[in-house]
Parts: sequence; structure tokens; C-alpha cells
Amino acid sequence: MEVFYQSTRSTSDKVKASQAILKGLADDGGLFVPDHLPTFDHTFAEFAEMSYQETAYHVMKLFFSDFTEEELKDCIKKAYETGFDTEEIAPLAEADGNYYLELFHGRTIAFKDMALSILPHLMITSAKKNQIQNKIVILTATSGDTGKAALAGFADVPGTKIIVFYPKDGVSPIQEKQMLTQKGDNVLVAAIRGNFDQAQTGVKEMFHDKAMAEELAAQGYQFSSANSINIGRLVPQIVYYVYAYAKLLQNGAIEQDEQINVAVPTGNFGNILAAFYAKQMGLPIKTLLCASNTNKVLYDFFETGHYDKNRPFYVTSSPSMDILVSSNLERLLYWLVGQEGVSSCMEKLSGNGAYEIEKEVFDRLPYMKSGFATEEETAEEIRAVYENASYVIDPHTAVASKVVRNYKGTSGDTTKTVIASTASPFKFTRSVMKALGEDKAEADDFILADKLSALSNVELPQAVSEIRNAAVLHNTVCDPDKMPDVVRGFLK
Ligand SMILES: *Cc1c(COP(=O)(O)O)cnc(C)c1O
Repeated sequence: MEVFYQSTRSTSDKVKASQAILKGLADDGGLFVPDHLPTFDHTFAEFAEMSYQETAYHVMKLFFSDFTEEELKDCIKKAYETGFDTEEIAPLAEADGNYYLELFHGRTIAFKDMALSILPHLMITSAKKNQIQNKIVILTATSGDTGKAALAGFADVPGTKIIVFYPKDGVSPIQEKQMLTQKGDNVLVAAIRGNFDQAQTGVKEMFHDKAMAEELAAQGYQFSSANSINIGRLVPQIVYYVYAYAKLLQNGAIEQDEQINVAVPTGNFGNILAAFYAKQMGLPIKTLLCASNTNKVLYDFFETGHYDKNRPFYVTSSPSMDILVSSNLERLLYWLVGQEGVSSCMEKLSGNGAYEIEKEVFDRLPYMKSGFATEEETAEEIRAVYENASYVIDPHTAVASKVVRNYKGTSGDTTKTVIASTASPFKFTRSVMKALGEDKAEADDFILADKLSALSNVELPQAVSEIRNAAVLHNTVCDPDKMPDVVRGFLK
């Protein structure tokens, strides 16, 4: 049965997958959700025999109903044929009693690559299917991670251009160098003299500027966004949970139909939502653990039913989880309380930054558990896993790993557990080496990376080695109010 997409907030017209991918957000500001969740049409024993690419096809085809087999296979091939440093794409590492699902073998060594390597291809295929002649221009504001992953995904993809704005003094030196060395004829990276919010606001204003849209359309361009609420990012994330389960089955780590637990370090709630969808579709997940860092707005929500973003914001060693408004939670809310409930919650959220749902609603989600780890606990966890298993994890992964350790301790649950490992430790070298007590008096992050390589017995990832001596290719710096001029200049 064909899957259509509708808004989380109203019963507006249903659209096809390709239209939802192109639009990103529904017209009423809601998020697109599938009108029903498909079920798998292969057994897990059959999945166990498949490559990552084959698994990807048999999962994604269930959601992207209006793509032909040829179109979807072509997108998958382009995304996962090159750009990953292992054929397995998402290998499982067994360490310290858990299975770490390594989602960081793509170009920017973080899990965003899993989806951002295929989104550009899904987008241009969607444009073709809908007779859109314009080139797609991706506009993004970044505080570091997403920008580079989007750049790497869209670089040199025909029919697209990508422009990334970042705050000049708001990203780490390595993150800045990663972006400024980005190759590709269709790529522009620009620093703004301002903070992330100003970059974000500037991008939003351009998206809503009708005059600018008309001006660009006359030149054959239209804006689109690559942010994490696009279903073209969500669906590819379901794939690796199926793949991980199938690999455990193939390795003999689990029996047929045996349930597993899954733990996810969570920020915007996209990754864990994909695991939730996988469970709804029939993947044998017993407990789904939502792990937060000190910004534990989600933990508080699952404990009390009260979502409240009015609270201090902490800058942590797991910056990709430093989020107070988790956009994708809206899709879980939709499942829990329906369109009217979501609309009312989202109105309250944009009004006074808080909403509440009745705790009984969570009775529908008995398998969802949550936890959080403080900064100290996160560092301790990195140390513990290294001491117990000579395996080095990054701070985001460590948050989830710690939550699993606590959960196992209090519940006595011995179910085999997959932990989504969302970044390479080499992406957060300094925090990792500090946790291991090895950062002393070392100023240069690259030298520190060499030391981490020696200590962990893992080769320096190409993402780090290639930027070490790479040429800086971008030098645009502007004031926030000049962002539209930068865009016009690049598209001339
Ligand atoms: C984006 C990100 C997360 C959070 O994922 P969500 O889908 O936003 O919940 C966790 N870890 C890393 C390394 C990330 O880049």
C-alpha cells in the first residue's frame, strides 16, 4: 500500500514522498509523517543475508512509494558506494558487554553522514519526478557539525548548490577548517560576524523572502533545506537499526525473534525516532533508551509529561546534543496525542516555551525509557569503556553508554543492547583525551589526534588527516544583514 505524508498539525492534503522531501516542512508549519507505517516484507533471516545497500533498498522502498526501483537504487548507490571507509557502512563493535553501532564511517565521521549522503540524491530525483527545472539551492546555518556533513553530501551533486553560513567565532578550529577546505564547484562557505542565532535568523528570513524567491526563480533557482526534520533524512536512519539486528542474527549473537535493547544519544530526536519507527514496523526492540546530556529536557519530559525549554542552557562535551527544543519529538507526540494535541502543544511551546501531556499517555510507550549523564559521568564512561575493553568512544556515545550502564544496574535487564555510536572519538579528540587523562600540555589538536590513534590502535580517519594540510578554499566573511547579497553574488 502506497505511503503518503501528512502534517502532524492538521488534516491538510496528503502528499507523495517526493513532494514531502522537496517541501521539507508542511504548509501549516507541521512535520510530515507517514499516513501509516509499513511493515517489513522480508524476514530478518533474509535481511541477515543482505548488504547495507540491499537493506537500504528494502527498507526505504516501503516509505518512498513513488520512487521507481531504478531511481531508489541509483540514489542508494551514489550515497553508499563511496564516501564510507568500510564496506559494512555501519559496523557493530562488541565492547564492554554492549554492541556499539558505529555510524561514523562517512566523510565527516559523524552519524549525520548516514542520511546526508543520500538526501541530495533523493532531492534531485524528487525534483525531476515533479517536473521542477530549477536548480536546488540548499541554505544552511550551522554551529559546526551539520554544515560540514551537508557540504560533503551536496558537493558536486549536479542540479544543486549549497551555501553554508557559520558564526565566525562560534565553531571549533577543526570544524572551521573542515568547512573552509570543502571542495566542489557548487559550494560556498561564508562566516558571519555574529553568533549562530543571527546566522539562523538570516537563513530563515531568506526562506520567507518572497521577492528574493521570485528573483531567484527567474534565474532558475529555488531554495531548499537539508535540516533534520526532512523525511529524506529520517527514513535512511531506519535502515541501520534493521541492519544491526540482522547482523546480530547472522553472527549468532541473538536467536531468531530475540528482542534487543537500543540506546540512542539524543538531541533533536531524529535518530531515536527512526528506532521507534523500526520498532513499530516490527523490529524486535524490547526497550528503547533515550539518553540526554546535562541539557536533559527530554529526560524530564519522559519522567513527568512536562516539556519546558525555560531552563539554563549548558555547553557540554557532547555539543550535538545541546538542544532545548527537539524538533522531531513532534512526530512522537503526533503518534501519542494526534493532530489536535500536537497543535495545542506546539502553540504553547512557541508561546511560553512549555507544554504538558497527561502522564497516562505514556502508557502507550511502556518500552521507552530515558536517562541522562552529567559531564563528569560522561568522562568517567569514556574511561571505563577504555579500561574494560580498550575501546575508545566519543562523548555523545558515552552519554548513551552511561545511561545503559545505569539502566542495567537498576533494572537487572540483561537483554543484548545496541548503542548508537554517533561520532568518531577523533571528532572530539580533546574531550576524549582529557577524559583519558592524556591531554596534558598539548596545544595542537592534530598531535593529540596522533596520540589518540596510537592509544586506541585505530588509524587516523581520513576526515582528520586530509584537512591537516589542505588548502583553505573559502574566505567570505560578512555582516549578518549582508547574507542575501552573498547568496545573490554566488548565484550570479
Ligand atoms: C546530531 C547528533 C546527535 C543527536 O542526534 P538527533 O537525531 O538530533 O537526536 C548525537 N550525536 C552526534 C554526534 C550528532 O551529530
